[in-house]
Amino acid sequence: MEQALQNLLNENFQKTLETASQTEIYYALMLYAKEKAAQMPKTSGKRKLYYVSAEFLVGKLLSNYLINLHLYDEAKALLARYGHDINRIEDAENEPSLGNGGLGRLAACFLDSIASLNLPGDGAGLNYHDGLFYQKFENLKQKEEKNPWITPKSWLTDTGVRFDVPFGGQSVRSVMYDIAIPGYRGQCSTLHLFDLETVDENIIREGIDFDKSDIAHNLTLFLYPDDSDEAGRLLRIYQQYFLVSSTAQLILKEVKERGGDWNCLHEYAAVQINDTHPTMIIPELIRLLTEAGMSMDDAVREVSLTCAYTNHTILAEALEKWPMSFMRKAVPQLVPILEELDRRAKQISTDPRVAVIDEQDRVHMAHIDIHFGYSINGVATLHTDILKQSELKPFYDLYPEKFNNKTNGITFRRWLVHCNQPLTAYLRELIGDGFLTDADELEKLLAYKNDSAVQTRLKEIKQQAKRELAQFLQETQGAQLNPDSVFDIQIKRLHEYKRQQMNLLYAIYQYQQIKKGNVPVRPITMIFGAKAAPAYIIAKDIIHAILCLSELISHDEEVKKHLNIVMVENYNVTKAEKLIPACDISEQISLASKEASGTGNMKMMLNGALTLGTRDGANVEIAQLVGEENIYSFGKSSEEVIRLYDEHAYNAAALYEGDEEIAALVDFIVDKKMIRLGDPVCLGRLYKEIVGKDWFMALLDVKEYIRVKNQMLADYENESAWMEKVIVNIAKAGFFSSDRTIREYNEDIWHL
Ligand SMILES: *Cc1c(COP(=O)(O)O)cnc(C)c1O
Repeated sequence: MEQALQNLLNENFQKTLETASQTEIYYALMLYAKEKAAQMPKTSGKRKLYYVSAEFLVGKLLSNYLINLHLYDEAKALLARYGHDINRIEDAENEPSLGNGGLGRLAACFLDSIASLNLPGDGAGLNYHDGLFYQKFENLKQKEEKNPWITPKSWLTDTGVRFDVPFGGQSVRSVMYDIAIPGYRGQCSTLHLFDLETVDENIIREGIDFDKSDIAHNLTLFLYPDDSDEAGRLLRIYQQYFLVSSTAQLILKEVKERGGDWNCLHEYAAVQINDTHPTMIIPELIRLLTEAGMSMDDAVREVSLTCAYTNHTILAEALEKWPMSFMRKAVPQLVPILEELDRRAKQISTDPRVAVIDEQDRVHMAHIDIHFGYSINGVATLHTDILKQSELKPFYDLYPEKFNNKTNGITFRRWLVHCNQPLTAYLRELIGDGFLTDADELEKLLAYKNDSAVQTRLKEIKQQAKRELAQFLQETQGAQLNPDSVFDIQIKRLHEYKRQQMNLLYAIYQYQQIKKGNVPVRPITMIFGAKAAPAYIIAKDIIHAILCLSELISHDEEVKKHLNIVMVENYNVTKAEKLIPACDISEQISLASKEASGTGNMKMMLNGALTLGTRDGANVEIAQLVGEENIYSFGKSSEEVIRLYDEHAYNAAALYEGDEEIAALVDFIVDKKMIRLGDPVCLGRLYKEIVGKDWFMALLDVKEYIRVKNQMLADYENESAWMEKVIVNIAKAGFFSSDRTIREYNEDIWHL
């Protein structure tokens, strides 16, 4: 490795390991790792998987490559000999900005597991140049900026493959870039990222503003551009079609190259549609096959045996439906296919709830997936049950055999081995390294749950991670964290169903208690990390309220000794990797039934945090695995919540008016102390939203939440009892390895 790096530094920068900068060393390591990955074998098999997704939140790649290539320790030692810390070298890498939240991170974990399990499968997505926006805080508000991450030398390789993508009125070309995905003790998969040949970053104006109608230049600039107007919604359709048309052409080309026969496409390809964004791959494949001479019946049959769909949400606003007028404008060539699919669906059932094109002439993407795919899966047991019993019940009645559950998972290579090296080293010392390939072996740890030496060592590892996080947040945003406080962490996209606003109400509660002289036994550090979609007004108001309270407390000498609120700027994978090992209390407080699975909950459990959670998503499965005594659950059940919605029986105003304690918390949002610091319009709007609507029922659960969180803080003081729970949580986290999830996908759906 040493000689190879010297050569690369010399060729590229005329430098040596002695003279190169950290950035130059990063590039040399990148080129070296990229070359090594290119030499790895690629599994081939008759049937190949294409995992199609609008997002791949891969995170920085250097460490991941080095770990999976078994070069990490060698690289670390070599760099140390030249006076470099590998962690600082990594700082030079830009995090690829190709995803948004859990769904995109899931796709990235899945690619890692597919490669590690030697399965023939690749990912397909888009190469967004400015990604999801970069979040800054200015005047206690979120401000969006572009997030360019691609450098002239990068992990991307231009494959030379090009496809024409036809739209109504014009045609554009896609360029296929590849990123290699080396598996751990496995083969190498590929992430194909399609880019617009004529993309032009110069059309971006102030912030993230650009001409949404200029599709010949804008298609691969941003992930999820603002779709609050018609041009924005049309752009989503153009982007989605650009992705699926390129992917469909790639699939057919590869099948042909491998000597396969399009007439039995499903024997050669499996397509996993990650949420509804890539749904148009179904009509697009049908279009391409029929244009090549296949009959409509045969094409529909083959494509239906090839495509499978993963549902990620029951939120109505997230289930995409597009006006047919948009389709006629953007993708007129798909319109006859969509009409044909609609006709066929209506032959199967005349129930308007399962129509492909509804009475308002809108096409329902999920309905296409379910009628014309062979599998539909939810992402946690509870979520799948809700799909079957309520959200998609009419479909379940039609096609019970298509429905199945695949509880999400995370790759332990990134979320343990990479992000928590001290914990990994200690686990290897205790239970050997079998858990690195067989995550269930973590259960061996249970034997040590009452061992005080083990408890003490694990506590030290947690303290060290908290000190490192404190230092990182000091350096990056000037925050002052006390590592001896409890670290209570809620990090995830900002959404009302995730209920950051309920956590805010807890912060207000704690503030008011301290003001009354009831100080907590130990200082509390409440950490938030969350981006709000640029057009999601209330989500931005919640960020503003959190920042205002944080600011208020930071100037209050009396309160700040006991309570500190920190909002991490631009929460992303890199920040998650530093936050998660330092977490004591993992906040998983979504309104029951609304969080399909969650994966942040799994990452924190694996890293020795205890969950404070509702009985929602995968929290339910965490509770079953660790036992009720090792998790802090609270809140109304999903059945109760669904009943409240069905009967329109939830009344926030009544809860507010009928309970002085609740009213005191909500009123504080518009207290003069807050108004003095913040924007009265934003704070007033949030106050009104909670009192007048509270669609995600924060006031329903807030009192029990406060009670259980206080119990948790009290329990934290009993170190051995707390650490016993921590050990059980780590030991039981093996189930949430994405290797397990991917094995299940392969056994039940893909059959590769
Ligand atoms: C894991 C992860 C998520 C998903 O978090 P949830 O709590 O499951 O919503 C979102 N963003 C990043 C950066 C992550 O790593």
